[in-house]
Amino acid sequence: MELTILGCWAPYPRVGEACPGYLIRTEKATVLLECGHSVFSVLQKYQDFKHLDLVVISHFHPDHYVDLYAFRHALRATKMLGQRSEPLRLLVPAQPVDMFNYWYSTEEFRVEPIACPVEVRDIKLSFVPVLHTMPGYMIVAEDQRGHRLVYSGDTDYIEESLGAAAGADVLLAEASILDRDREYARKAKHLTAKETGRWANWCRAKKLVLTHFWPEYDLKEIEAEARSEYSGELVLAREGLKVEI
Ligand SMILES: [Zn+2]
Repeated sequence: MELTILGCWAPYPRVGEACPGYLIRTEKATVLLECGHSVFSVLQKYQDFKHLDLVVISHFHPDHYVDLYAFRHALRATKMLGQRSEPLRLLVPAQPVDMFNYWYSTEEFRVEPIACPVEVRDIKLSFVPVLHTMPGYMIVAEDQRGHRLVYSGDTDYIEESLGAAAGADVLLAEASILDRDREYARKAKHLTAKETGRWANWCRAKKLVLTHFWPEYDLKEIEAEARSEYSGELVLAREGLKVEI
């Protein structure tokens, strides 16, 4: 399984870059996790969107889903041009209900609520509810060799849900906040970089990929805080970064 980073910024991107968007490819399946600001543009550098199997949105904050609107128009165009007729499978949280109903009503997507594990060709995805300011999920992707990518979504530091990452081959996790701003992290229900490192160490992740960075922070500080708690292999997400899992 291969992970390609499309965007790593939140809640708005740095110039010319994108909010969260992560492309997962196995031998047979291609899945997009998250579709935040500018992700649809960047996606097209790395993948023909007409050939995606599935899009998954962890929660309905704009930095994670807002480019679905652009995606919808592009799918409409492909239908008009006779390039793709079937709707694209889209998994989203069932809450908030008005958001779910909006996307469910579109013709361009075949929308399902996130619930039980799903299998798409040779990849299995399962979902763990996390504590955030709106209903959201951690996503576990497993290929046929049993290799596991665990993606945090946006979450508070709650050990019950974070346990799902135990033994992850790659933990792709938000490192949104510096320790000096940890009071804000609790209020906004995000992880600090230090907590992300602690989590990776606690769950014995083989590799940690930090993401979901506030554009105003110095990323060297984010990295140093995570490294102070985790001694394994650690990289910072950036557009175009590919990670073998
Ligand atoms: Zn976010």
